[in-house]
Amino acid sequence: MPYSRERASKGGHSDLVRNPDVAAFLNECDFIKQPTEEEAKEIVKDFVEISPSDTLPSTVFASDASPYSEPINGMFPSTQIGYVKNSIVLINVNNYEGLSSPDSRYIDPFKVAELHRNADAISFTLPGSNIRYKGATTVADGFRRAVWEQLSDDRTKMAQSGDFNVVGTLLAIEKENTIILNKCPSCKSKPPTPFIFSDANTIHTCDSCGEEVYLTDSLRLHEPITEFGDNASAITRFMNVVEHLNIANLIRMLHHYQPESLSEMAFFIDGPLAVFGEPADIHRRLMKFYFDISENMKSRGYKAPIILGLIKTGQVAEHASALNKHIKKNTIKLLTDKYKGRWIRGKYDPNGCIGYETYYGQDFLYKTDSGRMFTFCIPYPHERKGERKVFQFTKSEITKYQDTLERTLGIIKLFELELYENAVVPIALAHRHASISLMPGGKVLELVSRNGLNVKK
Ligand SMILES: [Zn+2]
Repeated sequence: MPYSRERASKGGHSDLVRNPDVAAFLNECDFIKQPTEEEAKEIVKDFVEISPSDTLPSTVFASDASPYSEPINGMFPSTQIGYVKNSIVLINVNNYEGLSSPDSRYIDPFKVAELHRNADAISFTLPGSNIRYKGATTVADGFRRAVWEQLSDDRTKMAQSGDFNVVGTLLAIEKENTIILNKCPSCKSKPPTPFIFSDANTIHTCDSCGEEVYLTDSLRLHEPITEFGDNASAITRFMNVVEHLNIANLIRMLHHYQPESLSEMAFFIDGPLAVFGEPADIHRRLMKFYFDISENMKSRGYKAPIILGLIKTGQVAEHASALNKHIKKNTIKLLTDKYKGRWIRGKYDPNGCIGYETYYGQDFLYKTDSGRMFTFCIPYPHERKGERKVFQFTKSEITKYQDTLERTLGIIKLFELELYENAVVPIALAHRHASISLMPGGKVLELVSRNGLNVKK
């Protein structure tokens, strides 16, 4: 485990390390340790000076989501229900700039509360253990149906017309707007002709078991679902992928109706630009989708929108805070696989590619002129990944990111916030909105319409 584990071990954990059995065991283990002064100086040599852009977007969207999976009290066998809330906050940058006085980064909490009103949420309810939704034969079949219903209905719809919901986006980012499934998600049998999903065919019936097969089964979210076990991790996977798809859906809608506004926008996602677990493969389509949007915008004379994931926890964030005092202000480092292998993960694979199956964006470390460290991720400017050992290097060419990098730093700098460690205002607001209350979500469509961002046709 990384060095920061030491800092985290307050209270009870220190007793564990003092236990002679555990101490003897640790003596047999290798783990990454805090870099020495000399090592730190060597690490930070590679950081390059860079100036954030003064040209800021006019609108920022920030997204955050929270999962809740609760056992229903007193029921036996254990009965569980899942609830996911994805909040999206919209911030008008011109209004925001007036919030803080120039000599302080603290902002007026009453004005923050006003910003907070410009938020909305999409919520989803899913069956957990021992719940068979709408008479389904198994928990997993009911889960598939609930996922299908909630990703295809109006709750994720981002415009009054068109197919701008998650299912529409799933099809739109696929080759030829078609999704193919070779196996039945329920009985696992292989039909003579695969299930082919398109705009006109979103549901099939399996000839072998008679179960309905849904377009959204391609996300494979139901696969880890068990009848009576804890299904919290499947609910978290759902949350993770849906958060990324909701933002993609919003960007797709804006690109269609308001490319000019889109060029003046930034989108913050909480966490890396990556999709993990069963639905991970969708990251390739998201990468191509953002590449296509960016190329299309540029070909029409617009700036590409800024899309960034902010990474607040994990090995890279821990590495950043350990190095902070050695790093010069206003510098940046693109985290290559070699760098991560040597300084963060303890192992470098010259034939591999970190995040090859999950990431659609590159991570960077950034130290602002106020001395705060951020770890963020922006989309790989590539259409496809190709071979692992090659992509390891193509993704690391910093010049390829120049188009959006300085504007991304500008927006991080504007929103850096003293109140939360390594947090920025938009994410902090979205997080509060997603986690404070279990109040039902509305529709992000209303948020979008209120701000005049979609077109009714
Ligand atoms: Zn079947």
